[in-house]
This record gives sequence, structure tokens and C-alpha cells, in this order.
Amino acid sequence: MLAAWSYAVLRVCGLVLLALAGGWVFGYPWLWLIVLALGFLAWQLANLHRLERWLAVRDPRGGIEAPGKWADVVAHVGRLRRRNRMRKRRLAELLREFRHSTDALPDGAILLNRRREILWCNEAAARLLGLRAHADRGLRIDNLIRHPDFVTHLERAGSAGGRSSVELASPLDEAVLLSMQTIPYGDRQNLVLVKDITYQAKLEQVRQDFVANASHELRSPLTVISGYLDDLVEDEKMPAVWGGPIREMQRQSQRMQAIIGDLLELSRLEAPGGETEHNEIDVAALLAQIHRETLALERRPRDVVLTIDTEARLLGRESEIYSAFSNLVANAVKFTPEAGRIEMRWRADSLGAQMSVIDTGVGIPPESIPRVTERFYRLDGGRARRSSGTGLGLAIVKHALQKHQGMLEIESEPGRGSTFTCRFPPERIVVPVENQIPHDQVPGT
Ligand code: ADP
Repeated sequence: MLAAWSYAVLRVCGLVLLALAGGWVFGYPWLWLIVLALGFLAWQLANLHRLERWLAVRDPRGGIEAPGKWADVVAHVGRLRRRNRMRKRRLAELLREFRHSTDALPDGAILLNRRREILWCNEAAARLLGLRAHADRGLRIDNLIRHPDFVTHLERAGSAGGRSSVELASPLDEAVLLSMQTIPYGDRQNLVLVKDITYQAKLEQVRQDFVANASHELRSPLTVISGYLDDLVEDEKMPAVWGGPIREMQRQSQRMQAIIGDLLELSRLEAPGGETEHNEIDVAALLAQIHRETLALERRPRDVVLTIDTEARLLGRESEIYSAFSNLVANAVKFTPEAGRIEMRWRADSLGAQMSVIDTGVGIPPESIPRVTERFYRLDGGRARRSSGTGLGLAIVKHALQKHQGMLEIESEPGRGSTFTCRFPPERIVVPVENQIPHDQVPGT
């Protein structure tokens, strides 16, 4: 590198010396200098021109023969062009691999820009939704998939900024059930994942039908057994030694009847189809009824309080809402000592309306809170055996609330108590939401 520079400097010095020698021999040294300098400049321009022509050629293979420092410049540029070409090739290969692997995925993936236009989709998405991978690029997805649930889902996914999913029939085949999940990323862009869940949905349906049919079939024989056991318990001619076992059998058959009743109720709540009725439920009156029933119980906490903060009514099916609320209150009674307190509270705000059951009972450890709404999940065995529950109460509450677009929130601290809150969205509330002064506070005892 240094040698090449020295050579270039020497060449300039040589030219100056040549000019001076020419001037000394023939006179006019300045003229000699100017002529040689112009010749040197013309030579540089010719090299620049060749370099420029070489750069304009797309294929960077080969090079040009260039003298002096120009050879270094040509070598540098050639190296950069080769490196660039390799990088491009590697990127293209990566992109090809990415396309092949995403096309091999059984699930669909669609990239949407902030205007919900399709940037890219894989083969599975095209197959499941009937999209054309190339032709539909740049089109708005909600113009291509016009299912109202999907459009609402997209709006919610955009505004909530979180993950959410929706289930809908494929636009190509009604029998194919799809689950679509939208994941926001980047600058208000979205990734939509499409999964064929027909098989899982069928399995779930078979499971639900099996549980419903088995429960239904078991109900009649159990009613007969229970009836005979009731008679036997009251039969005075029965030897005393049989008294205890028969009463235990009666207790257990009642428990089985309660489980079957709860299983049938769960099956009914899970049954697909049919929007929940939109009857106006007077929640204040419903809670007052549950409050009266609780006060009438033989064993209950000392204070049972009802606080109604709003006159808001709920749109839905009264039997389901009654079942959900009374299950929560029954649990609060079961798990709160007699010296404790239970409060039922109904209030409303801009986010909708909430019914809370607050108790000062045994509470639930944090790790069990997410699991208590599972079917048959009960905390420690000893406590569960002592309580008369079926382990299905909170599952019924959860499903009943889901049918009303509501959700169950649980806060609890072991030894201090629990708060179960049923939240209902504004669409389910009838009276204009307003904060009213509590007008009904009914202390227990
Ligand atoms: P169960 O019929 O056993 O009450 P649930 O589904 O209603 O069944 O409740 C599941 C479990 O959640 C209960 O066994 C109990 O351990 C716990 N649980 C429910 N409600 C309460 C509460 N208010 N306080 C403490 N634990 C509760």
C-alpha cells in the first residue's frame, strides 16, 4: 500500500522534473509543466471513466486492469461488491427457507399492516381461509373475511393491544371450525394465527355428550336407590346395627344426586347455540332473595350483609344468574366460620356492573386460585370432605358468567378471606350507569 503511494508520488515528481528538464533544454518551463499536468489529468480522467463503466455493469465478477493507485481502488470496490453479492444471496436463501418452512406449517399465519392490509400469508392460511397468497396481498383482510365475529375480534385486538382469539367456521367450508388468534407486534402491525380446531371441537362435543348422557342415565336408578334408602332410614323395624350404614348410604346417594344435578347443569350451560335470553333481571331483588335464604340457614356466619349501590338491571337468563350468585354465597357460607362475615354487593360503573361476594373465611392459597374453577378441583382433602360440595360449583359459576359475556375474578388471602367478583360488560346493563348512594344495608342476625 505504502509502495503504491510512493510510486504515485514519484510519478508526479518525475513529471515535474521532466517539465523542468524540457524547459531548461528548450525554454518555456511553465508551458512544459502545464502540458504535462494536462496530460496527467487526462490520463486520470480516462481511468475514472473506465472505473465508472465497470461499476455500471451489474455483474461484479472480474475487474479492470488499472495502473498505479487505481488498481487498489478497483480491488477495494471489487471486494465490497463481492461481499455485498454474497450477503444478498444469503438473505435470499434465508427468505426461501423461511417461506418453505412457513408453508410447511399446518397452521396459517398472516401478517397485517396498521391498515389491516395483508402483507404476507403462508399456504395454510390461504388454504384454510380461501385467500390467494399473491393476488390478495395489499387487500384489507376484513374485506375478504367478512364474518362479524372476526371483524369485532380485529377491532378489539387493535384497541386492547393484547392477544385474543375467536372461533369461526371457515369461509370455504361450514364444517371446518377455525380458531384465529391475533398477536400485535411492531408499529400497530398484527400477526394472525389460524388453526383448524374441527377435531378438538368434535372431541369436546363427544366428551360433553358423554357426560350429559351418562349423568342423565344415572339419574333414574339413583332416584330409585335414594327413595328406598329414605324409606329404610325411617323404617322402625330396621335393626339398630344397620342404622349408621344406611344413613351413610343415604348421605352418599344424596351427594351423588347433587353431583349429577351439577353435571347436567354444566352440560346445559356448555351446550352450543342459542344466545342467552335478554330478559331484564332485577339483580337487587334476586340478591335480596338469596340474602333471605342465607339468613334462614341453620349454620351460617353471624353477619350476612347486602349492599345495593345501583338499580342497574342485568340482561340475561335469571335461572343461570341465580345459580351463579347462590353458588358463590353458598361457598362463602361453607368456608366462613360462624363468627365471620359475608357481604354481597351490587354496583355499577363505566366498565359495567359487578356483583361481589366478600367473606372473612378460610381463604384460598395463591397457587390454588387459578385452579378452583376447574371441575372437581377442591382444596385439601380433609376440608373438602367436611364440606358437602360437589367440586362443580365454581365451574358452573364460570360458565354461567361466560354465557353472559361476564367473568369471574377471585382475590383471596389464606386466613383472612376471599372476594369473588362477577363482572358484566356495559352491553348487559340496562339502567344508565350512575353511582347511587347505598340505600339498602341489611345487617345479619
Ligand atoms: P365445592 O362444591 O367444593 O364448593 P366449588 O367449585 O364451589 O366446589 O369450589 C371449589 C373449591 O374452591 C372448594 O372446594 C374450596 O376449596 C374453594 N373455595 C370456593 N369458594 C371458597 C371460599 N369462599 N372460601 C374459601 N375457599 C373456597
